[in-house]
Amino acid sequence: MRDKKVTFLSLILIFTCLSLSFAAFIFDNNNKSRQKKIDLMNGVDKIAYYNNLDDISRDEMEKGLLIPLPKGEESDYEIEYSKVYRQMKITISDTNKEFFNKNHIEGLTNGLTDLKTDFKKEGKKEKTIVTVSLDNIYDYKSIIEDGNLYIKYYSMWDKYDKIVVIDPGHGADNKGIVLNDGVEADIDFAVASYIEKYLKDAGIGVCLTRDENQDPSIEKRVDMANQLNADMFISIHVNESDDKSESYNGVLVMYNEKDDTLKSKLLGDYVLKNYIKNTQAKNLQCIEGSSLKLIGDSKVPVALVELGFLTNKPEAQKLISKDYQQQAALGIFNGILEAYNNAEFLKEKK
Ligand SMILES: [Zn+2]
Repeated sequence: MRDKKVTFLSLILIFTCLSLSFAAFIFDNNNKSRQKKIDLMNGVDKIAYYNNLDDISRDEMEKGLLIPLPKGEESDYEIEYSKVYRQMKITISDTNKEFFNKNHIEGLTNGLTDLKTDFKKEGKKEKTIVTVSLDNIYDYKSIIEDGNLYIKYYSMWDKYDKIVVIDPGHGADNKGIVLNDGVEADIDFAVASYIEKYLKDAGIGVCLTRDENQDPSIEKRVDMANQLNADMFISIHVNESDDKSESYNGVLVMYNEKDDTLKSKLLGDYVLKNYIKNTQAKNLQCIEGSSLKLIGDSKVPVALVELGFLTNKPEAQKLISKDYQQQAALGIFNGILEAYNNAEFLKEKK
């Protein structure tokens, strides 16, 4: 009788164990298939999914895109942002896939076209790179609160009532003209950076089409000015004479003769006049340039400035000097200011 009881109890025990492991198996499988489903979602849908799942509050949403950090403010992270490529890379050390499966990226999806997470491992060090693609050219703000990094994107027009796009020609491996100790890409970038500084100091919104190590396509550069609906678009280059003779020197400006508003010509004239005033460079006039894609495709008033000739030794020497670069930039900046004094260049604010 006793034996029978033991057998019966054993049976119950075995049955319970089996049911529990079966339930665990089902649960685990459900979890796995749910995770698989989430893994297949695109980044923006994933954010919306987690927003729902975690019932994220309206207040939290208002703060922007929420990226959990492993050690709150102590976390090691880096934000790289390229306006021309409309892409932001956020690198967060000491995180991996498991971390982001438990701690979700959530929040505001406004302006996002895509979001990717890449998990990297080098030796014992792990990091996650979150790549955010944006639908326009934004400024951003970031804050850390409650252990999360919040990033909010907003239109530059929310902050500025004047915006100028400056295009330093060439870049990266595309050096442009390299002659007489001068490298065009570097001169273009130096002058553009001085103009950027003067504009910032004057409270004018400014965007450069590239940083030192980028070479965006002509389309991307002109698209930046068009997308932003900038007041003006200024491209910076240096010149060379076809026969490489040293006799040519001076500043040449090109404008878009297809611009019916005639503002491109006006801008070109202002920039040329002020450039000469500041540098005493020879006046090679403001000429038609719409056959160049950068000029012809611009929907905003555009001026392309050929600062001077690298083929001409004395002018090349000037162009590589910091003083001359600053004077050149100041001349172009004064041209921009003179254009703004002409009310036609000011946008009616919505
Ligand atoms: Zn060039």
